[in-house]
Amino acid sequence: MARRKIAVIGAGPGGLAAAMMLSARGFNVQVFEKQPYLGGRTSSFTKKGYTFDLGPTFFSMPHILEEVFESSGRRLDDYVTLKELDPMYSLSFDDMTIRATRDREKMKRNIDSLFPGNGESYERFMNDTRKKMNALMPILQNKHASMLDYLRFRSLKALPQLELGKSLHDVLSNYFDDERLKLSFTFQSKYLGMSPWECPGAFSILSFMEHEYGVFHPIGGLNQLTKSMAKVIEEHGGEIHTGTGVKKLLINDKRTVTGLELDDGDLVEVDDVVMNADFAQGMSDLIDDSKRKKFKNVHLEKKKYSCSTFMIYAGMNQQVNLDHHTILFSQDYKKNVEEITKTKLLSADPSIYVQNPSITDSTLAPNGKSALYLLAPVPNNFSEINWENEKGHFRDLILDQVEKKTGLKELDKMIEVEEILTPYDWEHKKHVYKGATFNLAHNLGQMMYFRPHNKFNELDHLWLVGGGTHPGSGLPTIFESARITANLLTEKYKLEEVQA
Ligand SMILES: Cc1cc2nc3c(=O)[nH]c(=O)nc-3n(C[C@H](O)[C@H](O)[C@H](O)COP(=O)(O)OP(=O)(O)OC[C@H]3O[C@@H](n4cnc5c(N)ncnc54)[C@H](O)[C@@H]3O)c2cc1C
Repeated sequence: MARRKIAVIGAGPGGLAAAMMLSARGFNVQVFEKQPYLGGRTSSFTKKGYTFDLGPTFFSMPHILEEVFESSGRRLDDYVTLKELDPMYSLSFDDMTIRATRDREKMKRNIDSLFPGNGESYERFMNDTRKKMNALMPILQNKHASMLDYLRFRSLKALPQLELGKSLHDVLSNYFDDERLKLSFTFQSKYLGMSPWECPGAFSILSFMEHEYGVFHPIGGLNQLTKSMAKVIEEHGGEIHTGTGVKKLLINDKRTVTGLELDDGDLVEVDDVVMNADFAQGMSDLIDDSKRKKFKNVHLEKKKYSCSTFMIYAGMNQQVNLDHHTILFSQDYKKNVEEITKTKLLSADPSIYVQNPSITDSTLAPNGKSALYLLAPVPNNFSEINWENEKGHFRDLILDQVEKKTGLKELDKMIEVEEILTPYDWEHKKHVYKGATFNLAHNLGQMMYFRPHNKFNELDHLWLVGGGTHPGSGLPTIFESARITANLLTEKYKLEEVQA
């Protein structure tokens, strides 16, 4: 039988992971990427000797990607050097800094020294959440393509450890009284672009995952993960066309996807299409509104989306004395989160994440210098913020706050290379719907059965991967989405071969 042809739209981590597994299984895979570079939000750019990861900087649960490599006949170790970070990160509050480590005893001692008596609660949190994680993993790895899958999940709802009716903040209140400690185990909801007060309690697995499995840095940056997958695709005979955008899907009258029309007008006929482009943006750009049912533009506008991020990438002319990952909490974190997610205003005191990877990895900046990455979560583009007007002022505010909260002085004078990315840029330059950098929100109404399915329901021969489908945003889950989609496609054609 002729090799089945698969086109993947987008060379983000989801698209590349799916393409890697499918090409290893003998499919004829072509990846079409609009940008002149690969990796999507997990790419990098280099300026005057400084290399910056564009988006992800935290890599946890490497075993999932290791398994994805193994199922593609390769070993992740042969492509990427991972370095475990200790401390995993520093959490800086007005009056104290908590340095988080995976070393259980050391972490317990850290907590007890700052919050006497709370070390035991940390142990209890870890033990309870391990059970929750074991209950949740099969749910996340399951395809949730049908109501039956979901009902199976609903019956699990009875399991008390999933705590689905509670917010993440409520869950942590069962363990800690002190707000700073609660925030140390709930700020991870920002990875989903959500507030700890709204994020489902089940997501306490996010901080658990870090404390259980560690936080890693791939030498060269997280972009090395996508670059490595691209190598494997090509080793298996797959093709990656960068700078080759897809204009629209070719769909026949019977709602069957038959191929792609590229930006240059070329037509590509394939058996199946895997869409990795940002879900809502891809729907709006690539499929006529009339061919969609539940995902017409009016419906997409009513969905809930994650926050956005304001980014400063700064090449510093000297080494910066900060841990690899530092989170500087706003004095009134709850107000800051409400401004980001509800009132959609720019905070006067934003929380800021600073990555100083040069402390771990000498490949990212010229000798004796640092490639700094600063991120402030901000409202997505459902806000009325005019970023062209605000960006200079907000950039100065961030640098000012970093100086105040870290003790670093005259940052402006140290900067010799600078790039800024606003929510407007995420939407208009990076093709992220409404600049919602972490995709569709992860409220219960948009998860599992209620998230767009890996096998897209409304059109035949269209499949989804990436943060906009099940199980959701964040690299480990995105790799799971690729695994689910690649397995569904493989099963489909195996079955057809058996029946033929
Ligand atoms: C600032 C930021 C920080 C993050 N930090 C972390 C972190 O620390 N850890 C973590 O696990 N996750 C993090 N994430 C979340 C997530 O892991 C990344 O966003 C991830 O790259 C999303 O992968 P994806 O496969 O869904 O899509 P993307 O990376 O968005 O890739 C989609 C690709 O499709 C392409 N495309 C779009 N339209 C077309 C078209 N018409 N034709 C061809 N190609 C097209 C795009 O150019 C893009 O390359 C972060 C995200 C952001 C933005």
